[in-house]
Amino acid sequence: MNMITNHLPTAELQALDAAHHMHPFSNQKELADRGARVITRASGVTLTDSEGNEILDAMAGLWCVNIGYGRDELADVAARQMRELPYYNTFFMTTHAPVIALSAKLAELAPGDLNHVFYAGSGSEANDTNIRMVRHYWSAKGKPEKKIIISRQNAYHGSTLGGASLGGMIPMHQQGGLPIPDVHHIPQPNWWAEGGDMSPEEFGLARAQELEKAIEELGEDRVAAFIAEPIQGAGGVIVPPETYFPEIQRICDKYDILLIADEVICGFGRTGNWFGSQTVGWKPHIMTIAKGLSSGYAPIGGSIVCDEVAEVVGATEFNHGYTYSGHPVAAAVALENLRILEEENIIGHVRDVAAPYLKKKWESLTDHPLVGEAKIVGMMGSIALTPNKEARAPFAADAGTVGLICRENCFANNLVMRHVGDRMIISPPLVMQPDEIDTLIERATRALDQTYERIKSEGLY
Ligand code: PMP
Repeated sequence: MNMITNHLPTAELQALDAAHHMHPFSNQKELADRGARVITRASGVTLTDSEGNEILDAMAGLWCVNIGYGRDELADVAARQMRELPYYNTFFMTTHAPVIALSAKLAELAPGDLNHVFYAGSGSEANDTNIRMVRHYWSAKGKPEKKIIISRQNAYHGSTLGGASLGGMIPMHQQGGLPIPDVHHIPQPNWWAEGGDMSPEEFGLARAQELEKAIEELGEDRVAAFIAEPIQGAGGVIVPPETYFPEIQRICDKYDILLIADEVICGFGRTGNWFGSQTVGWKPHIMTIAKGLSSGYAPIGGSIVCDEVAEVVGATEFNHGYTYSGHPVAAAVALENLRILEEENIIGHVRDVAAPYLKKKWESLTDHPLVGEAKIVGMMGSIALTPNKEARAPFAADAGTVGLICRENCFANNLVMRHVGDRMIISPPLVMQPDEIDTLIERATRALDQTYERIKSEGLY
């Protein structure tokens, strides 16, 4: 596709794109009017567009390109695997070497007795698997009434019917009649927006106790599982107060329910450990994985499942699977990605070099008049934009108005930083070096300055 069309002028590419390509999470009309940005290549932490701009990618694509762009080793492995065995399924008592090796490696890397992997093509599909798996588990144990999955408001768990139902995004629920039955959402631990007069510590405890309240109200005998991202990503990089997860763990230990850690963003080094649940001190029975598993070089996701659940689910036929469950090319690419993460000690680089450096710089953004709090864990961070830091006040304009202006200013300064409402978020490649972090902060500061000037001149401040 690249070779076929990259030579066309940008306007022509944009017109073809607008005519035939329906974009995810986009307003197609607005996109057609403005023309999509055409990305032509990428290397390290930098994207190049069809106009020749070099853009610092502080989102690692969609939180996924953990090892950075342009690693030939992954391309070589993919080409080799395509020649040897481009596809075979893992249904009907068959298997192949790449999926065997990847499963064994994941069992080695995952904590505790998370030793079994069920593959999917994406994080959404993996969460759909989880819904069916936990319900099947309880049914197989003679408790078919344990069906309800508790999740959190403003969580993101994917875009399929199941994934979007687990997610707590109201605008997603409003399209397509969601959530599906037996999914329950409790409030999120977002102190900045919802903490009121409580200290972060009190608020963290209170929000964790919402889980206990929900289990008591719904009845332990009806609750199958609780699912959470260790750090909410698409919800705005919401870092919970330190009191939150220990209390969640206490509650989970008390009741007979399964715990699902959605590690789609937090997994594979993003938080400075292999998995985000290790960073927040939480012990799940199932982990959802995708994104950083292959650093986005091939579409692959899955569920890493503990011994007990795998044994119960595996005792009868589990009527579930995808054509691309354990795709050999994706599995080979993922395995090579894990080799690079491990042999190049990229998680050590995050822990010892990149994350401490980024944290210092990121937190210094609170000196800016627009920035209230700055939160960061490992290589995922957010800043809250506000007209009044003391009051943690929202802007008078609709939520997201100022955030969108800031995102546009970031783009204009060749920086990809996203906004969620009026929070600006980053999740850069884990291989980012200190000088690149300096560039990120310089461009972000310039974008914040321009945003500040503009909203003052437009009366939005
Ligand atoms: N879970 C989480 C925590 C995610 O952030 C995402 C994607 N942003 C998903 C699930 C869904 O993954 P995918 O887009 O690969 O279906």
